[in-house]
Amino acid sequence: MTNRIPIASPVRTAAIVNRYFVHAKKNLGQNFLVDLDAVQGIVRAAGIEPGDQVVEVGPGIGSLTEQLLLAGGKVAAYEVDQSLPEILANELPEKVDGQDLDQRFKLIMKDVLKADFATDLAGFFDLSKPVKVVANLPYYITTPIIFNLLESSLNFTSLTLMMQKEVAERLAAQPGSKAYGPLSIAVQTQMSVDLALEVGHASFMPQPKVDSAVVVLTPLEKPADVGDRKQFNRVVKLCFAQRRKTLANNLKTLLPDKEDREKLLADLDLDPRQRPEQLAISDFIRISLAIAEINK
Ligand code: SAM
Repeated sequence: MTNRIPIASPVRTAAIVNRYFVHAKKNLGQNFLVDLDAVQGIVRAAGIEPGDQVVEVGPGIGSLTEQLLLAGGKVAAYEVDQSLPEILANELPEKVDGQDLDQRFKLIMKDVLKADFATDLAGFFDLSKPVKVVANLPYYITTPIIFNLLESSLNFTSLTLMMQKEVAERLAAQPGSKAYGPLSIAVQTQMSVDLALEVGHASFMPQPKVDSAVVVLTPLEKPADVGDRKQFNRVVKLCFAQRRKTLANNLKTLLPDKEDREKLLADLDLDPRQRPEQLAISDFIRISLAIAEINK
């Protein structure tokens, strides 16, 4: 009976919480979505169509999972909370588009940071075809999850991720803004970043202290050639070590010799008095490649 009310509603979520004695676990970043509009907004932002293969991170009690299934998705979800498999098995619809739930939904009880996608998804997904990643992320591991996905072998066409608004703003930030920094640069060299929607506290149970936003990351057709990516990320991080200081100042750790620094900046035609946040991504790439050349 209750199955007709979406899980993403205060009344159904409260019923589930009471029936299974659910205590939202803060340490696992559990804030369940109880706002159908917000959940459907995520599904729309992800452009889920019938037949899409979807990887979800942290299905919780299934509010987003249910709508992904109803939009036609085939969903593989990573979860770590051992109290949730029973709830998901009982509360998600038994049949979706005439198919049994287990043909459309696979729960992988594993830390997503330890995922081995090729093995975990084999037999459930057709791995010759791309997947879409959709999640209301556990906020405490937002950036490790994003970097893990970017470095993984997963053939994805988009990552549609709900996260703390402040992190979403950092991902999308452009040069000259306060939010622009190593995270913006590392991600934007590989992905286009779109802020799709903002979601307020009231859409969750329990309500988080921070505002949330949904970001859609799409792989660039031509990712920037940054050379050794680890080295590039390190250079960018050090350039931003002290945001308020000049570029020349921040470069001291990377190039202790004053002459080396002055020559590098002159060669690259960069003003040493600029602050790191004023530099374009292409400037950081040039700096990193030039430093690699000097250290050869
Ligand atoms: N999708 C649900 C929703 O929108 O209501 C729940 C989202 S809640 C913000 C984050 C979920 O991620 C929780 O269910 C939590 O148990 C799960 N989680 C936390 N750490 C995880 C990890 N390392 N790997 C996979 N899932 C994790």
